[in-house]
Amino acid sequence: MTEVDGTWSDESEFTALDVAVDGEQADGEAELAQPVLAVVGRPNVGKSTLVNRILGRREAVVQDVPGVTRDRVAYDALWGGRRFTLVDTGGWEPGATGLQAAVASQAELAMAAADAVLLVVDASVGATTTDEAVAKVLRRSKRPVLLAANKVDDERLLADTAALWNLGLGEPHPVSALHGRSSGDLLDAIISALPEAPREGEPSMGPRRVALVGKPNVGKSSLLNKLSGEQRAVVDSVAGTTVDPVDSLVEVDGQTWRFVDTAGLRKRVQTASGTEYYASLRTKTAIDAAEVVVVLLDASEPVSEQDLRVLTMVVEAGRALVLAMNKWDLVDEERRYQLDRELDRGLVRVPWAEKVNISALTGRSVRKLAPALRTSLASWDQRVPTGQLNGWLSDLIAATPPPVRSGKQPKVLFATQAGIRPPTLVLFTTGFLEAGYRRFIERKFRERFGFEGSPVRINVRVREKKPRKAK
Ligand code: GDP
Ligand code: GDP
Repeated sequence: MTEVDGTWSDESEFTALDVAVDGEQADGEAELAQPVLAVVGRPNVGKSTLVNRILGRREAVVQDVPGVTRDRVAYDALWGGRRFTLVDTGGWEPGATGLQAAVASQAELAMAAADAVLLVVDASVGATTTDEAVAKVLRRSKRPVLLAANKVDDERLLADTAALWNLGLGEPHPVSALHGRSSGDLLDAIISALPEAPREGEPSMGPRRVALVGKPNVGKSSLLNKLSGEQRAVVDSVAGTTVDPVDSLVEVDGQTWRFVDTAGLRKRVQTASGTEYYASLRTKTAIDAAEVVVVLLDASEPVSEQDLRVLTMVVEAGRALVLAMNKWDLVDEERRYQLDRELDRGLVRVPWAEKVNISALTGRSVRKLAPALRTSLASWDQRVPTGQLNGWLSDLIAATPPPVRSGKQPKVLFATQAGIRPPTLVLFTTGFLEAGYRRFIERKFRERFGFEGSPVRINVRVREKKPRKAK
């Protein structure tokens, strides 16, 4: 994603599985489901108070000491049914010398990272030289900029508000963050300035969609038969409902599931037409149609390249994953030992997968499949609130900062979980984060928040400190 003003590098897509993402980058729009508003201004003008007012709770920490670094910076806000991420830039104050430089660089970062910027000015003081310097920076912004004239606690101060037109940022919105006066009007203005967020994928209607995939003869049809045979199953057609004929509705463990693209499995046509190309195309189709994928491995045989290719397809597609070690009835102690070795090596890239050992032939442990599917889907649907995410992340980064690259220490400004299905984090940074460090963040993120059975994507939005090209 290239920004108009050329100050961004492209967004680097990243998953724990370091697969080559051939031109199939997740598109930037979907990633930023929730627009970002950054609040900037001098210390003590009331930014934190206003953030609290907008959030409707005392979550951000108001400091009595001006310029004290806050450790939590981003929150989920909701107004008029619209969700957005609210960023308090108070925590960004860098080593820049002098207040003016500090606030100006804060504004630069805000413009780069956010979809809209809110400049807060203390109307009871009027525009200071620092406010003017920041306004000058913000007038260059390609994104909408709103001006809040704070501390307008009563009517008499409205005249002071009008004087702020001079900042050249359009209409000043008078508010009293402390008393709440006119904050609704300001929020209305904010909402209309923010880009429309794409509607979040509706919780899927009807049965959750499952794909059974794996190399030929791994036991896919046997498993489907076992699942639909054992339970009093509803297969292929249900009176009064429309069922895509390639899918099977099967009740497992008290829940109806839609096993997608099972026509080939049921008819057992396979082999003849099953050149590897068509088999792989079929696998891809099934994965794309599913929400959660069961990858079957033949536990009695060495884990093969073909198995790993299927796993890669699932991760690339961003689907929840359950690994079913099938033919467990054929596994003796020696094979089991070997298999552990193979899995250690083969699955390093998907340590988070849900795993079950089953036998589709004997039915052994097949009942463990449904709970595994439920766990993976719950992770796939999970969202960490922005405030919680940033509280955790700032602690992590304080303890283990990103490695210095060409003399610069990249700063992670804030993060949001921009999406679910699959869970997708976006980190807003001032520099490139190495793959190793992103993996570290993912590992710690999983330790803290779980997400078993689901891939987690971590995208980095870098605002590079490139000098601006002269126009
Ligand atoms: P920040 O440094 O910009 O985040 O400012 P704070 O939110 O910490 O506020 C600085 C001081 O201004 C605090 O003592 C607040 O209580 C006070 N303050 C904030 N908003 C208002 C307001 O609308 N009216 C008045 N009178 N005081 C305010
Ligand atoms: P598909 O090609 O993946 O659909 O595999 P099938 O379900 O057709 O199974 C291929 C062969 O493996 C058949 O002979 C099955 O009976 C056998 N098979 C499937 N599951 C198991 C299992 O759990 N244990 C054993 N021993 N054989 C199995």
